[in-house]
Amino acid sequence: MQRWNGWGDEAVTVQLPSQALEILYDTLGQGHRRENYPLQDFLKRIPQSRLPRHPLISIDPKLRLDHAHGQSLPDWIGLRWGTLNRFPDGVAQPTTVEDIRELLDWARRWDVIVIPYGGGTSVVGHLEVPMTDRPVLSLSLERYNRMIGIEPESRLATFEAGIRGPQIEQILNARGFTMGHYPQSFEYSSLGGWVCTRSSGQQSRHYGRIEDIFAGGIIHTPRGPLAMPPFPASAAGPDLRQLVLGSEGRIGILTSVIARISRLPQTNDIFGIFFPSWEQGQKALQHIAGEDLTISMARLSNPTETRTNLALAGHRNQIVWLKRYLGLRGVGGSNMCMCLLGFTGSRQMTSTAKRTAFSIIRREKGIIIGRSMGRAWKKNRFRSAYLRNTLWDQGYAVDTLETATTWNKVTSTLHAIETSIHEAMSHTGAKAHVFSHLSHIYPTGSSIYTTVLFRLAESPRATFDTWRRFKTAACRTIIKNGGTTSHQHGIGMDHREYIASEKGAVGAGVLENICSYLDADSRLNPGKLIP
Ligand SMILES: Cc1cc2nc3c(=O)[nH]c(=O)nc-3n(C[C@H](O)[C@H](O)[C@H](O)COP(=O)(O)OP(=O)(O)OC[C@H]3O[C@@H](n4cnc5c(N)ncnc54)[C@H](O)[C@@H]3O)c2cc1C
Repeated sequence: MQRWNGWGDEAVTVQLPSQALEILYDTLGQGHRRENYPLQDFLKRIPQSRLPRHPLISIDPKLRLDHAHGQSLPDWIGLRWGTLNRFPDGVAQPTTVEDIRELLDWARRWDVIVIPYGGGTSVVGHLEVPMTDRPVLSLSLERYNRMIGIEPESRLATFEAGIRGPQIEQILNARGFTMGHYPQSFEYSSLGGWVCTRSSGQQSRHYGRIEDIFAGGIIHTPRGPLAMPPFPASAAGPDLRQLVLGSEGRIGILTSVIARISRLPQTNDIFGIFFPSWEQGQKALQHIAGEDLTISMARLSNPTETRTNLALAGHRNQIVWLKRYLGLRGVGGSNMCMCLLGFTGSRQMTSTAKRTAFSIIRREKGIIIGRSMGRAWKKNRFRSAYLRNTLWDQGYAVDTLETATTWNKVTSTLHAIETSIHEAMSHTGAKAHVFSHLSHIYPTGSSIYTTVLFRLAESPRATFDTWRRFKTAACRTIIKNGGTTSHQHGIGMDHREYIASEKGAVGAGVLENICSYLDADSRLNPGKLIP
């Protein structure tokens, strides 16, 4: 069963190794453990629904609580401390497209706000219930989750948009195919959610981001359905799929998605590498990114993240041996940076890619330590998200920030983000454990992914204020340094004040007009994406 106030399956708990706890004690001090707000108290205070009755809509309090939030840090503060106080008035979980259409028509008749809900894994406030006199319906696609058809000869598969990662891969793998889209939230996030937030999977270098996978589909807007056929290519004016990608529930309900699929790869290897310094690691990745190689992922951790990852791996003795070995090969000390490099594709293509990539790595004095670290990473790729539960129980909050920028600005932007967070924290007297990695590399630049850990404060308000302070500082720094507001998490509530500075006045105006043309009554997820 899914945790109601945290991440993932209740049966799964991931322990923090003692070495990792030592780092936290040393950097942040002992965590402030807090009692969790009881579920029963929440259920007692869910207000009466303002919705007229409808056979497809439930007003069950637990269902309304479950659909009142995503997985952002403010969402967690609200859930764990009981301060979450806005709930949808009802939840619909339709199973047919006719029901979805009927619900949209009904919402128009009764002037009801509709929040499309995929898997509920948003980390930027996409699902926040607005403060409004109009009743709010959460329209969940969770039960609209089957495969509609597959065309192996065209490498296309059509799915109902509520289908989640594991189901997609189970269906496709059985037929010798894969979609290859693995965000860390894979277990719970949905195909429709991926498209509507412009998601990026861990192996996007090989399979593409969701915009490369999204070949077409149907979105039901308040103006009517918009069908996007899966042309292999088209010169018929602007591509309307781009309106749907990143639309964040503002223009309609995406009901079906036609996805590009790939044959299961012959090789899917991930190698562990250590570089003597960040500069050498970055130079190697930049060079690799510029080559046309079948790399599926590249992840370069900075020195603090490297130290933290090694502590999180547990296995104290193995890590001691690894460090000794690396020391003998001339890599060690506090500047060392860990890297994971994945090769996916045919045996022939990946062996060529390995030869070229390894020679670039060796030129930068990187040490390739084989596949074992990559195998461990693959095994745990979705489990590390469960550490959020463990950390909170130990009295620590964790949040992540991300951007992407061109190679000439990557290192300076990464440093500026980390510095801005430390400075913002020092104003509150709080401390932060901050570390970063490059997670998606492109010929022109890279994404930067920063993790921030800090102690829970005395109260929900103080914890929220601490978060707000460093989040604002980091976002402003990203914009000032020419990075994008978001590489993969989207805009939602938490980034909406920055969208105009990225798109410019004309761009923001175009977005506003698209939303108001397709949704003239501001019925769909109002307030998200554009203020
Ligand atoms: C632990 C964790 C790890 C994560 N890792 C990654 C990662 O590696 N890469 C990444 O890209 N993201 C990641 N995320 C963020 C999140 O998983 C993605 O944004 C994901 O795409 C959201 O999908 P969802 O189905 O959960 O959508 P939801 O959270 O339910 O909704 C997100 C937005 O999309 C809209 N929406 C959803 N479905 C539809 C639909 N069918 N029609 C219209 N609008 C719709 C909603 O209205 C909302 O605005 C992570 C989140 C967590 C909690």
